[in-house]
Amino acid sequence: MNTTGYFTHPDCWKHEMGAGHPECPARLDAIEDRLLISGVGDALERREAPQAAIGDIELAHDRMLVAGIRGLSDQLADDIQAGGPAHIQIDPDTSMNLHTWNAALRAAGAVIAATDAVLAGELENAFCAVRPPGHHAERSKALGFCFFNNIAIAAKYALERHGLKRVAIVDFDVHHGNGTEDIIRGDERILMVSFFQHPLFPFSGDVETALNMVNLPVPAYTKGMEVRELIEIMWMPRLEAFKPEMIFISAGFDAHREDDMAQMGLVEQDYAWITGRIKDVAKRHAKGRIVSALEGGYSLSALGRSVEAHIRVLADL
Ligand SMILES: [Zn+2]
Repeated sequence: MNTTGYFTHPDCWKHEMGAGHPECPARLDAIEDRLLISGVGDALERREAPQAAIGDIELAHDRMLVAGIRGLSDQLADDIQAGGPAHIQIDPDTSMNLHTWNAALRAAGAVIAATDAVLAGELENAFCAVRPPGHHAERSKALGFCFFNNIAIAAKYALERHGLKRVAIVDFDVHHGNGTEDIIRGDERILMVSFFQHPLFPFSGDVETALNMVNLPVPAYTKGMEVRELIEIMWMPRLEAFKPEMIFISAGFDAHREDDMAQMGLVEQDYAWITGRIKDVAKRHAKGRIVSALEGGYSLSALGRSVEAHIRVLADL
């Protein structure tokens, strides 16, 4: 066994939010290029992401949100037919094109299929190279480049459809995963640990909300060694005590020092170290089961290198 899966789909390239938008299809190219050049891609089992079933998305989202996004997609198709613009705006930073609906279904479908494959023992762990990302999407609200909360859906799916009792979510994106917190807050079957730059979009997460949340707001210019120390002290004892049966990772790489979406100072080696610590917990309590999904990361070169570092640890390369 010990195989690492790599889930993606061409539809995830087709979603785009307008010229110059940082959450762009080239992000996936940067990852693919790096995996190709380094040879790391050869060690992975590549699988095409299916579309998520609506019923599974609704494990984490209100029916009205799902119907609303589908409705906007249909409306956009009509508008384009009538000569209207190619995008429909959700918030100042987030918009849909004709392919967003399918891309969002594939992104959620990737983490669900990865969860199935890992729990079936076909794969030890998996990385999902997907867009749109998910961790800002709340139960009833799409925002911040996100439509459906891929990782929250997968965590709920593992509990509800596979009967697991305890799963952990690790979020190392530089932004607070407000959407994931909104969905899983108070659900004692899920422990969420994260760090994030604060203050920074979405300007939340700095007040204690629920016992199943370990939020670590850190100031701008925090470096990797300081983050590692915080993780060791604040995440690890909680994860060890919780004994998760599976671990989900909201893998955003925008805390990299080359990423100008924020001002933190992580480098590739920090992502490798964090992944290693998560893997230690997974090996001890969860038969190694990890499903990781791409969130942020906007400096294309740093993103490619960081994902490579993350996957090298997942795949023991
Ligand atoms: Zn982010």
